[in-house]
Amino acid sequence: MLDTLPLLNKIPFPAINRKKIDILQINLGYRCNQQCLHCHVNAGPNRSEEMSHEVLLQTLDFIKNYQIKIVDLTGGAPEMHPEYTYLIEVLHNLDVKVIDRCNLTILNEPGYENLAEKLAENQVEIMASMPCYLEENVNKQRGNGVFESSIKALKKLNQLGYGKKDSPLILNLVYNPQGASLSPEQVKLEKDYKTFLVDQFGITFNQLFTITNVPVKRFGSTLISKNEFNSYMDLLQSAYQAENLEAVMCRYQLSIDWQGYIYDCDFNQMLDLPLKNRDEKLHIGTVSLNDLHHREITVAGHCYACTAGKGSSCGGALT
Ligand code: SF4
Ligand code: SF4
Repeated sequence: MLDTLPLLNKIPFPAINRKKIDILQINLGYRCNQQCLHCHVNAGPNRSEEMSHEVLLQTLDFIKNYQIKIVDLTGGAPEMHPEYTYLIEVLHNLDVKVIDRCNLTILNEPGYENLAEKLAENQVEIMASMPCYLEENVNKQRGNGVFESSIKALKKLNQLGYGKKDSPLILNLVYNPQGASLSPEQVKLEKDYKTFLVDQFGITFNQLFTITNVPVKRFGSTLISKNEFNSYMDLLQSAYQAENLEAVMCRYQLSIDWQGYIYDCDFNQMLDLPLKNRDEKLHIGTVSLNDLHHREITVAGHCYACTAGKGSSCGGALT
């Protein structure tokens, strides 16, 4: 795998500070039942990294002590963590809103037959990857059979009440471009998705979020090997919009890895870019909020993926 960090570190990005921490994003591990081309984690079935019980408890203590109200679970496929159900039940009982970054196909895997019901019981909000509504494009990016399995999973979620009008169970879809390009306009694309999915499959959902591909790990490596890295960085930089700096997600959230180490965002985690002006990595088991609030964020060239065009975050476009 080609490393993009030396190239990204050469590209300056404006300085930004954290404002507060509304969301804790927890990466439970890098195992995944899929192996997508655009993956910024390099996740796959053979990855074995996963959060230990001890770190899970330290993370829950942090959430309780600092009254974190939104937790965003990611991976890999976060649902493959052996204590996933325990975790969402504890968080639900603490009245913490849980977001699950779901690849959809996991809901059809053997051993996960009851997962969708568990998500519904604990009112977990689902943020599901669906990079296109056309079968050919989804399978090209995410693997053969992924589209069909995703449709089956979406129907299952609809049957449980997810994505239905007036239901408290939220089902959002996530679009990302097929390759080295920017996303189309989010509102218009959402309309196209809604029309197509309801007409063809009777599927409904709440919102569509567009996310820009970030040039790290598998996606970054693919760009280098196709000789597209520089042109993609030029595209991101030429589409820079300063007003997006206010809303980039690192200003309002923290990311922790499967070992409990803290980063400004999931992308910095994948690049192993530590918090700024620290001699050593901070750990969720020992950190205090004072160590984190209003601190300068570690930035590099990949940050232009968050500020290009309408902006991009784990919650879609920024403007
Ligand atoms: S993009 Fe998501 S579903 Fe695909 S390999 Fe990475 S973690 Fe798994
Ligand atoms: S890549 Fe991470 S650190 Fe950079 S602007 Fe985006 S969220 Fe912030």
